[in-house]
Amino acid sequence: MDYERDSLASHTVPANLLALDEEGMGRLVQQFGWPRYRTGQIMRWLYQRRAKDINQMTDLGHAERTALASQATIPRVTGCTVFRSIDHTRKLVLTLSDGLTVETVLIPDENRLTLCVSTQVGCTLDCGFCLTGTMGLKRNLKPHEIMEQVLTAQDRLDPSERITNLVFMGMGEPLANMEALSEAIRRLTNKRWGLGWSPRRITVSTAGLAARLKDIAPLGVNLAISLNATTDDQRASLMPAVNGIASLRTLLAACRRYPLPPTRRLTFEYVLLAGVNDHADDARRLIKLVRGIACKINLIPFNEFPGNPFRRPSEGDISAFQTIVRQAGLDVFVRKSRGRDVLGACGQLGNLAPQYAEHVLTQIEPRC
Ligand code: SF4
Repeated sequence: MDYERDSLASHTVPANLLALDEEGMGRLVQQFGWPRYRTGQIMRWLYQRRAKDINQMTDLGHAERTALASQATIPRVTGCTVFRSIDHTRKLVLTLSDGLTVETVLIPDENRLTLCVSTQVGCTLDCGFCLTGTMGLKRNLKPHEIMEQVLTAQDRLDPSERITNLVFMGMGEPLANMEALSEAIRRLTNKRWGLGWSPRRITVSTAGLAARLKDIAPLGVNLAISLNATTDDQRASLMPAVNGIASLRTLLAACRRYPLPPTRRLTFEYVLLAGVNDHADDARRLIKLVRGIACKINLIPFNEFPGNPFRRPSEGDISAFQTIVRQAGLDVFVRKSRGRDVLGACGQLGNLAPQYAEHVLTQIEPRC
């Protein structure tokens, strides 16, 4: 795990404290010859108090802070552009140390404030309705780069705001970066030194890497599966890469085997594309596919972006699809589209092709 390699022994350049997991921090503390409780103290400064400078760690002695600062830093992201939607959604574009950018979105809705977090720059998969998919995979994010999105969003909240939910539904396929995802979730949920969030407030969404669903269960978080089609032919045309890895039958079998605690449900997401997968027959097939699985269904009307051929269904067609599914006794909701004007809605994250980007970016005004 490369995030564990950052320690005094292996570095002539300063160690990145945020790149260390608890074990790595323990080793660093040991190398200084300090008592073990220093590990928790330093981690609390990083995550609970979001310290940006070792000198802020006032429960370490002056000599200890000086020694630590001579060997390590807290290299928080400095480049962050915020795009504010007319519906108050905020898209944060963070510049990483290698110059790549990653996007995270704060979505207010009544008494909830959801943070949508990315796990990769670009994506390994190629879902036809998703802008991120057109980028290809640039690279996986490291645990501290996933956490950086949370810490930066927290830094920029209004004093009265608090993030209530976190969804891994940003750029990338979370289950294709499982090790970093798991470590980020450990830092989010650790009560001693981490953010102390309940895993129930966290949802991981996958395009359908069936063989890896079982790895999510021990983390205790919610699981969402992006289904979007009701036949393999349809899914192969909309999500060719992931459907090549696991067919609908394989994916739904993995969902049936998933060890859900008694009061929990899976979420199936279904992006509605006008004239493609929004017919009454699609709704009826969807009902059959999920029969017997403790679940709810989120319908996501497609969020259009320049250069993409798909269209958003009419309100009438969305409502008709929902009615059919609801009449079968399933819990089915239509996801509100938020942040569409700043390309911050579901499926809209990532870099537009240059010929479209120039046009769109003149219409979007960043405010930091
Ligand atoms: S929908 Fe998710 S898995 Fe599919 S291309 Fe977009 S980011 Fe990747």
